[in-house]
Amino acid sequence: MHLAIDAFLPLFFPERCPACDQWMGHDLGLCESCSASLYPLGVACPTCAEPQDIPRAVTCLACRTKPPPFRRVLAPWRYGGELAVAIRRLKYGGPSGRGLAHVARPLGALLASAYEDAVSDQDIVVPVPLHAARLRARGFSQAQRIAEAARKQCRLAIQPTILPGILERTRATREQAGLSRAERRTNTAGAFLVPPRQAERVRGKNILVVDDVVTTTATSGACARALLAAGATRVDILALARADN
Ligand SMILES: [Zn+2]
Ligand SMILES: [Zn+2]
Repeated sequence: MHLAIDAFLPLFFPERCPACDQWMGHDLGLCESCSASLYPLGVACPTCAEPQDIPRAVTCLACRTKPPPFRRVLAPWRYGGELAVAIRRLKYGGPSGRGLAHVARPLGALLASAYEDAVSDQDIVVPVPLHAARLRARGFSQAQRIAEAARKQCRLAIQPTILPGILERTRATREQAGLSRAERRTNTAGAFLVPPRQAERVRGKNILVVDDVVTTTATSGACARALLAAGATRVDILALARADN
């Protein structure tokens, strides 16, 4: 009897919407009303995923002029609407400005399919780390929680391991929001490194770096440079959402 009930439990696991906190009756993504504001990435630069208002995707001028250190940025959604609300709740929605960790699970569902595509040719997955001070303030790394939630919902039989300790954030950078493009680059330059004890796990590896939101690719570029400097073969970036520069 218990066995039979247990077998059905995963099918009936209602969850609150990560944006509006209403009960959803399902545990995937946003509730029906909030889902209406989801904006798929659509036409975008094949390298940096910057959204493009043209019929067919072309490599943008910035990527052609100065090719970035990563191979490409992948993101299923544009940043905005209720998805942006949900990501802000994940990072700051808890008591006294801490994060709301449980929001990562339904959000992970919005990344699961892109995650499945992105990890198929990777050796390891590395979430973008927070600086120790911000990690203490938030209580967890949102990029790591989103990656773990997506991994759990991904159907591949063999999946690369998520290794949170591979990258370290050595400087407490300012929040990227509100900074200009040039300021963002200076803000993140040299902010990441691979600690020597982790170098062996990076050398010769294809690595997928996971973040919650990619805006200017300054953070993505800084992570990729640190991993390549430590001997990684190739770095791809996967984010839940891509914001316009
Ligand atoms: Zn909702
Ligand atoms: Zn580009």
